[in-house]
Amino acid sequence: MIERLPTPWGLVRLGVAPDHPQLKTVSRAFEKVAARPGFRFLGNVEVGRDVTHEELATLYDAVVYAVGSQTDRRLGIRGEDLPGSWAATELVAWYNGHPDYQHLDFDLARERAVVIGNGNVALDVARMLALTAEELAPTDTTDAAIEAIVSSGIREIVVVGRRGPVQAAWTSTELSELGELAGADVVVDPAELELDAASAAELEAASNVVQRNVEILREFAGRQPAGKARTVRLRFRASPVAILGDDRVEAVELVENRLEPDERGSVRAVPGERREVLPCGIVFRSVGYRGTGIPGVPFDERAATIPNLEGRVLDETGAPVPGLYCAGWIKRGPTGVIGTNKKDATETVERLLEDARAGRLPQRRGEGAIEDVLTERAREIVVYGGWEAIDLLERSRGEPHGRPRVKLATWDELLAAARGG
Ligand code: NAP
Repeated sequence: MIERLPTPWGLVRLGVAPDHPQLKTVSRAFEKVAARPGFRFLGNVEVGRDVTHEELATLYDAVVYAVGSQTDRRLGIRGEDLPGSWAATELVAWYNGHPDYQHLDFDLARERAVVIGNGNVALDVARMLALTAEELAPTDTTDAAIEAIVSSGIREIVVVGRRGPVQAAWTSTELSELGELAGADVVVDPAELELDAASAAELEAASNVVQRNVEILREFAGRQPAGKARTVRLRFRASPVAILGDDRVEAVELVENRLEPDERGSVRAVPGERREVLPCGIVFRSVGYRGTGIPGVPFDERAATIPNLEGRVLDETGAPVPGLYCAGWIKRGPTGVIGTNKKDATETVERLLEDARAGRLPQRRGEGAIEDVLTERAREIVVYGGWEAIDLLERSRGEPHGRPRVKLATWDELLAAARGG
């Protein structure tokens, strides 16, 4: 397993919200695999920089890319790049201790934050910004992020969805958590829960998750705010048309949408006439991730995924490339929870094993070792023992405080700890 960072487990370590420790326990399943003979971890190695895809393809019978979606989708509106307008994923990486994001300086002194999007990442960001010192204390959120969130001046976090409550992409557990925050009231305007005919029809046929979401939202809309220090406000049928400000974010301009049936049996948001300027000091754009290509590996720019059939990577003629596979978000696009990706990975591995049994894999064993390539390029490799040393150190720093771990969040600290392993 080749990994760009000195630490394994991708979004489980660096994406899953730190106040959801139970979700992070999936790493135990990974640890079991890592303990099996034949597994090796090569951390601090980046494909494209330290080793090329072509080199991997000559060293190994099969290569599986499970690189996720490395960037965020853009809104494509004026003011998107003003200081104070952030990709939600930047905040997520920062509070989770990703070593590439610790220098970011989020100005949390402003009274209102706006989160654009109605997915689970938007809810993670809204909730994390609203947590109290007591709620953050038992988590592995970085100390810098705990300090910044607890002392922030944010009083209201507005989550804005372009479509209605029936089309929101979040899961019910994440939504209902917003109603249980110690330091924030959740506010929904009952008028925004009134459904147009197409949404009402969609709700009738919708999954239990969507039905439950609408029930939860109705319960929220009936609540009297308890006067907590912060408010999380959920808004619907509004799209940002511009982020306003002279030299930093001062407001978001929203347009009110109406919902119309679309050809896929759902509804689309159509901008109306009414506009609104919502003053705010910081914006988090949470409209999805986007995959990026790896030099030498086929890539579909439009879908931002690796073209594949059930995980077998396809060349430009649509034929499978022998020995080349993909799994997860880079295979399907950035949707689905951990369980979805587990199923997805299983499919890829089944195809790989089928090809191995049928003798369709290129036979490349014995043509050299990846260490030779990496040594030649003077890369400092972090092996699994190095990660175990990081893990042990982080856990021992957390233990006296009842925290799962206190993360090392800089490259220097991570590499130094790995050298001790
Ligand atoms: P997502 O679920 O795809 O949500 C993206 C949201 O952005 C949707 O509400 C979408 O609205 C909206 N959007 C897209 N383009 C927009 C635009 N131009 N203007 C306004 N809104 C726009 O993506 P995500 O939140 O990044 O999450 C990625 C995946 O990770 C999801 O499958 C999610 O469930 C999963 N995840 C799970 C957890 C958890 O289980 N706790 C936590 C975090 C993430 P439309 O529907 O109208 O397109």
